[in-house]
Order: sequence, then structure tokens, then C-alpha cells
Amino acid sequence: MSETSSIPSSAVPPAKSARPELSIVVPVHNEADNLPLLVERLRPLLDGAVSSWELVCVDDGSRDGTLSVLKLLSAADPRINAVSFSRNFGKEIAIAAGLDHASGDAVVIMDADLQHPPETILLFLEKWREGFLNVYGQRADRAGEGRLKRNFAKLFYRLFASFGETELPEGAGDFRLLDRKVVDALRALPERARFSKGLYAWVGFRSVGVTFEVAEREHGQSKFSFRKLFRFAFDGLSSFSTVPLKVATWAGVVIAIIATCTAFYFMIRTLFYGTDLPGFPSLIVSIMFFSGIQLISLGLIGEYVGRIFAEVKRRPLYLIGERVGFDARTVDHPR
Ligand code: UDP
Ligand code: MG
Repeated sequence: MSETSSIPSSAVPPAKSARPELSIVVPVHNEADNLPLLVERLRPLLDGAVSSWELVCVDDGSRDGTLSVLKLLSAADPRINAVSFSRNFGKEIAIAAGLDHASGDAVVIMDADLQHPPETILLFLEKWREGFLNVYGQRADRAGEGRLKRNFAKLFYRLFASFGETELPEGAGDFRLLDRKVVDALRALPERARFSKGLYAWVGFRSVGVTFEVAEREHGQSKFSFRKLFRFAFDGLSSFSTVPLKVATWAGVVIAIIATCTAFYFMIRTLFYGTDLPGFPSLIVSIMFFSGIQLISLGLIGEYVGRIFAEVKRRPLYLIGERVGFDARTVDHPR
């Protein structure tokens, strides 16, 4: 490794193992300030908890010197590796890339901003050693978030519970430990639209939740705007449920029944009382109503067709610009 030459001579670099016990996967987007803190917190903790570990950071198109920080960290400790995307692909894809590059017997996924307390990893490991393969962190509460965001999250979980074809444990996010078996199962899923929360639940395996308190973000701001979260929620629902498509059918059936009843009503009325000209307002209203329903249905179908389009293009999930610390090993090509 070329960077090794820049290690201060006093520091003895810890040995890098080809198949560590634990890999930590961290999606990183503009977190140059947080990364050194994260490593500082993780290092002593992991040294005491597992026989060998590695850190796999996925630089998701950062623009703030995150990559150079990662290079420095990797030069000082070869157990720290990174891949850098050619641009910002989003957190979900960054996690997928992290799983592709992690080689541990177990993999922990966590955020770089220290909102996921590293100490919780010890509880994850405990459960893993008890035989659980899919150990997910569950937020104790969402106190740190705005009321609006919290209520939307609640609504999303409720919608998912009634529409989704997969059960989603409430408050479970990406902070979790996955056994190698689960990682391999996830990697074998070919879809491009990756709603990982749903995928983790879909693959199943022996699962258990561990509650944790979400800490304050150390530096910087959350990268998820309201608009982005909304899009994310819709993606999640539509990739795990076909109910929205059925809504159009149901609406059509209900409206057809109403229309038939109205037709009968007018027919009888005309037979008994003759025709009258008034009725323009109801005509306009019904035309508008039906066009609305049709447009909504078309839009919904369009969303799914768009998704099919994205899948059939079979573009690679991500493109890697640079690898840091991985050259000692062969790495699979991205899908
Ligand atoms: N992140 C990423 N790509 C993005 C946005 C975020 O890899 O496009 C990373 C980010 O660096 C962090 C994690 O995803 O490690 C969670 O992001 P953030 O803290 O902004 O989200 P929140 O905590 O508000 O859910
Ligand atoms: Mg955060």
C-alpha cells in the first residue's frame, strides 16, 4: 500500500486481516469533521470487543475533503478502507456498496455523524453471539426530530403496515448488525431501487431489536430534506406494495357503481317528470371528478412503469472513482 510510507515511524500499524470478525460499513457524505471523531470512538471499543475488524467507508460523492480525511485515516490504520463514488448516489446505494466491499463475518451499518452510539455495537455483538443473524437498532424515541417529521414517520409506518407486503419493525433504521449469511442474501437481490429497510425485513433470518438513544448530530446538518424523505417514503411503499395500483381499480369500481345508480335515477326521473335543461353544474363536476381519478391512476401506473424502466436498463448500481486501502485485496466488480 503506497500510503503506508506516510505513517509516523513510532506508530506500529495494526495488522489487517483478510477476513475480519467484524466489518463496520459507514455511508459518508460530507462528513470530514465527523470521521476522525467516529474512528476515535470506534477504535478502542472494537479492539476490546472483537478479534479483528475493518472499517469500510463509502464516500458518497462528498465535496468537502472527506476523501482526503479517509486517506489519512487509512494510512495511519490499514484496517480503515474506503471506496469513493464517482458522484453522489444516495445513502441507500452507499450502503449496498459497503456491503459489497465488507468481508467480515458480521457487518454493522452505521451513520458517520455519531447519531448511532458506537457502544450499542457491543449489544449487537452480544445478540449475534447468541445466534441472531439480523440484529436491528430501534430508536427509543424520536425526540431529536421535529413534530412534523415524527408524525410523518408514524404515518409511513402505519401505511406500510397495512399496505406493505413485508412487516417493518417500527423505529428500525439502517443502524444494525447483519451476519454474513444475511449480507450475502442482500447482495444477491438484484433490484436497483434499494429501500434497504424493507429489504432487511424481506430477507428475514433470525431477527431481534435492540433499543438505542439517537444522539445529537456531531457536526453539520442532516442531509435529508423533507422533500427527499417524502420521495424516500413513496419509493419504499411502491417497491414493497402493489396496493397503490389496486387503489385505482377500487376507485374505478366505486365510481362505476355510483355512475350506474345516478344513470338509473335520471332515467326514472326523465320517464316520470320529463327532461329539464338544468344540470350543467353536475355535468361539469362529474367530468372533472372522473378526469381527476383517471389522471391519478395514470400517474400511479406511470410510477411503476418508471420503476420497471429503471430496473430493465440494468445500469450498475454505482460507479467507483477511487479505492482507498483496498488494493491489498481483490474486490469484486460492482453489480
Ligand atoms: N449520507 C450519504 N449520502 C447522502 C446523504 C447522507 O451517504 O446522500 C450519509 C451521511 O453521511 C450519514 C448518513 O448517511 O452518514 C445519515 O445521514 P444524515 O445524518 O444526514 O441523515 P439523518 O440522520 O437525518 O437521517
Ligand atoms: Mg444523522
